[in-house]
Amino acid sequence: MVLADLGKRINNAVNSALSNTEDDYATTVDVLLKTLVTALLEADVNIKLVSNLRNNLKETLMGNKGTGKSTSNAQTKKLIQKAVFDELCNLVDCESEQPFQPKKRKTNVIMFVGLQGSGKTTSCTKLAVYYSRRGFKVGLVCADTFRAGAFDQLKQNAIKAHIPFYGSYTETDPVKVAAEGIAKFKKEKFEVIIVDTSGRHHQEQALFQEMVEISNVVKPNQTIMVLDASIGQAAEQQSKAFKESADFGAILLTKMDGHAKGGGAISAVAATNTPIIFIGTGEHIHDLEKFSPKSFISKLLG
Ligand code: GDP
Repeated sequence: MVLADLGKRINNAVNSALSNTEDDYATTVDVLLKTLVTALLEADVNIKLVSNLRNNLKETLMGNKGTGKSTSNAQTKKLIQKAVFDELCNLVDCESEQPFQPKKRKTNVIMFVGLQGSGKTTSCTKLAVYYSRRGFKVGLVCADTFRAGAFDQLKQNAIKAHIPFYGSYTETDPVKVAAEGIAKFKKEKFEVIIVDTSGRHHQEQALFQEMVEISNVVKPNQTIMVLDASIGQAAEQQSKAFKESADFGAILLTKMDGHAKGGGAISAVAATNTPIIFIGTGEHIHDLEKFSPKSFISKLLG
């Protein structure tokens, strides 16, 4: 089950509950909640979150009990849909302060972290293009000396996107490469410097240690964790582990164009209390969208 089916399932559940004239409002709400809980769990949303959401929704909907009887089915349906929408938005909306905005004529360093294959290198270039189009002077640094071919990949992407880049074929110390890249771009008055780091297959201790060391040297204004939307239940554990060492302040959710369940992402947001800021919607350099909780949930609900 993908989260995108959620809207249809909720609609069906509400319709069938409302068309059954034998049922009272409380039964309608119960049927709906059961459907919603099943759908969210199947979409990999964490069980504790689902349970909280269920309780909140029940309270809201039963608070409307009086209106449930006196209003038309269409109104009841609208009311239920709005309550579900609001609760789901709350789950992905944790923007407590103003989101990071790079400042013109200043050096803004953005560091990317995430597992290998999550879409880090691709997303670095996408974000570089995004800021470049908005008038910033942007440079890319490849601090991934672990994976053979990492620099070539970043270089090819950067050339295609006309973004200046820095990396090394011979230096094996990623901290050194990162420091050199930052120094070079700073000297040349670049405004946004995006640093790509190494991601491995597992949450290895060495990887986390390396991330901390790079972070200490590049002193990022923002650290972004790249998360593959199709990762499912593993998203929660993974994002917690990254949060402990990299203390990222934002999530970039990739592969939202695929058949991702998306529920894992919701769990990652809640587990780390960190907002999603962008979503990747394809392999092309322009396939990056600003994340908006309302439109994300609207899309899920169809
Ligand atoms: P890295 O190992 O984390 O640096 O991951 P890459 O940037 O090399 O991406 C891994 C694969 O995912 C590549 O084939 C990318 O083209 C693909 N990819 C990255 N972001 C997206 C996205 O938003 N949508 C789709 N469909 N593919 C993506």
